[in-house]
Amino acid sequence: MATAAQANKKQAPRKQTGEVYYNPIFDELGFPSDPANLYRETVGAMLLAAELMGLSHELQIILAQPKNEIMVNFPVKMDNGKYKLFKGYRVQHNNAIGPYKGGLRFHPDVHLDDVKSLAFLMTMKCSLAQLPYGGGKGGIKIDPRKHSRTEMERIVRRFTAAIAHDIGPDYDIPAPDVGSGSQHMAWIADTYSSITEGSGKNGMAVVTGKPVEIGGSLGREKATGQGVIDVLEEMLPEIGLKGRLKNATVSVLGFGNVGSWAGRLAQDKGAKMLTVADHTGAIKNDKGIDAHDLAKHVMATGGVANYKGAAKCSLEEFYKTKVDVLIPAALEQMIDKQQAEWINCTVVAEGANAPTTPAGERVLNGKGVEVIPAILANAGGVTVSYFEWLQNKSAESWDLDRVDTNLNKHMVKAAQMTRVARQRYKCNLRTAAYIAALERLKNVYEQRGIFP
Ligand code: NAD
Repeated sequence: MATAAQANKKQAPRKQTGEVYYNPIFDELGFPSDPANLYRETVGAMLLAAELMGLSHELQIILAQPKNEIMVNFPVKMDNGKYKLFKGYRVQHNNAIGPYKGGLRFHPDVHLDDVKSLAFLMTMKCSLAQLPYGGGKGGIKIDPRKHSRTEMERIVRRFTAAIAHDIGPDYDIPAPDVGSGSQHMAWIADTYSSITEGSGKNGMAVVTGKPVEIGGSLGREKATGQGVIDVLEEMLPEIGLKGRLKNATVSVLGFGNVGSWAGRLAQDKGAKMLTVADHTGAIKNDKGIDAHDLAKHVMATGGVANYKGAAKCSLEEFYKTKVDVLIPAALEQMIDKQQAEWINCTVVAEGANAPTTPAGERVLNGKGVEVIPAILANAGGVTVSYFEWLQNKSAESWDLDRVDTNLNKHMVKAAQMTRVARQRYKCNLRTAAYIAALERLKNVYEQRGIFP
């Protein structure tokens, strides 16, 4: 087995500008010229894998761009009686395997390239996790913390009306992401059902991540964090931690849905969480931070700052703390070259989407740090979303044990397929996960052909 550093050497791209990966497809498709552009970086990682496995040029260009990019601007009445205009997005990357599937992000920094990157990642993730879905993503450029509940309800319902003709239970199925949650999904499902009433569709199945009372699945809230832990338990013995999470030390970046569940479930497996950072600051306790207690504090106060069970520390200290596993579970591109140089761990498990830049990953791989890529590590959320959709379609409701057991099967299979690709192509885990995902897409395109 090649080490991560050796693997990195073997997969040297065919043309490089300085340290940055270049592929002629960037120019052929008119990609942004900034090498740090998120979409260019994200698709670049796939193209590197595609080159290594010899994927045809036509499939490379098809997968390098989304099928549809939908942007809507819509007015909503605020509580003070004045109207405000909002911008929303839905990007439908690919539906060769099945309906578009992916979350909705409510964040002030959301822009088209982010949403395109996240939609692209969903295609790869759903393919790797053996789900019958393609990839999509959307969002509203908004800070949800700055709006009352009544304003948020009107904004979400009005956005749903604006994209209602572009989504559907058999066509494009949104879900929660950063800044959105089950209440927002309930409003979307209700609005969509009202608009399509009488069409014969089960309108409530248009979104997943709903409250359990209206067709949500047990286990969906913790699913992404659970998937991170399932993949770690499966992969750790091979990549440096024979005892898996028992007695392992962990750092978590971002303590929202994904980070807090990953932290809590890691602790339940016997791990000790030493440091945590989020948008309110960083905290540290060498004796361990109680993840369950911290989750309650974050729920009550909105962030990890001022948590009594740990001392405040700097972000630099957060990254430099020696741990076995670092779980980035916040936003994109947070682990760049500088952070990677600081990081002192054995394994990075990407709970967030695209948290590690290519420059950051080169530094990590060079130090022998293994990076479990997002399309594998955080596929648990969409997997349980799939179970929710199945339950809606068959009017069933699964117990938690059935959900967790089936989730584990999908995560273990995706991890095993990544391992097989890595052995075959002697590459790092990110490239291997892409190859495993691309092999399924290649087979599907070979069977379906390209219309007309
Ligand atoms: P969330 O809104 O619940 O939590 C986001 C976390 O990121 C918060 O703790 C916030 O404080 C932190 N954060 C934001 N800006 C930060 C900064 N500048 N520095 C440090 N921390 C910062 O979101 P989530 O649902 O947990 O999603 C987190 C990541 O996981 C995103 O990349 C998302 O796309 C990905 N993801 C989420 C799911 C899901 O089911 N929710 C599934 C797959 C992937």
